[in-house]
Amino acid sequence: MIAQCTPIADKGIPRHGYMNGTLWVVATPIGNLGDLSPRALNTLRSVALIAAEDTRHTRHLLAHFGLATPLRAMHEHNEENVAAQLLKRLQAGEDIALVSDAGTPLISDPGYRLVRAARQAGLKVATLPGPSALIAALSVAGLASDRFVFEGFLPARQTARYERLASLAAETRTLIFYESSHRIRACLADAASIFGAEREATLARELTKLHETVLSMSLGELAARVAADDNQCRGELVLLVAGAKGGDEERKSCEGRRIFALLRRELPPGRAARLAAAISGAPRRILYEDAKE
Ligand code: SAM
Repeated sequence: MIAQCTPIADKGIPRHGYMNGTLWVVATPIGNLGDLSPRALNTLRSVALIAAEDTRHTRHLLAHFGLATPLRAMHEHNEENVAAQLLKRLQAGEDIALVSDAGTPLISDPGYRLVRAARQAGLKVATLPGPSALIAALSVAGLASDRFVFEGFLPARQTARYERLASLAAETRTLIFYESSHRIRACLADAASIFGAEREATLARELTKLHETVLSMSLGELAARVAADDNQCRGELVLLVAGAKGGDEERKSCEGRRIFALLRRELPPGRAARLAAAISGAPRRILYEDAKE
């Protein structure tokens, strides 16, 4: 029996042993167009259709490589409808590629519903791996990389962001966040107050692009540096925070901050801080400092 949809190694062109088409999940560059793999290029050229998050954006990518493959917009607002139409075309034997604006589809990007529906329908879903900002950032951060947690984007609202960070304060694995340029200052200030100003962190900015910058220092220093330098807030950003060391004192402080964040919803800050200190055994001083902000 012919293997289902085995890419021909030297050409990267999909070949089929059955009638259904293949859904190719194709990673595209996060900045530098030289990072598009030859196999991705061949697949984008040979498929019947490319489902793209933003067709204007992908059209620029295709034009750069001289490709004219038809495009279909698929974003979070129309994914369910479009997925149903694409399934029919896959079942009719057409190959389709899924791309997002940058990096790997589904990673803080649309595509989950389509991939799930295709797999549930018994269709072949094949990966064309390549760039992703979180892995690129982790690979240059110099923080522990054997175990890490990808948290995607934090909530935009301050209270929800604070609570999410507080729930992660005792996490011992390296934490990775995507953050927008207009929220990075507030995010760093919250992170320094919840994880502690001494915690190691890295801010990876504009990776693979002209203004690529990777800053590694304590969270307190990073918050001050970014507050003082408008350039460090520009472009696309990944924030990485070292995991908690897991010592007794640190565990108490983290638990105190988590309880404080919960109590603060219902109680005045001073009272929430007193109770959180009593419940967790965390030094009151740390929680009172948070209460003043
Ligand atoms: N699917 C993409 C991936 O695989 O990385 C992520 C898409 S998400 C909508 C966009 C976020 O990824 C940006 O807000 C930023 O946090 C991060 N990002 C994308 N490109 C980046 C780059 N060149 N440098 C740093 N961060 C980047």
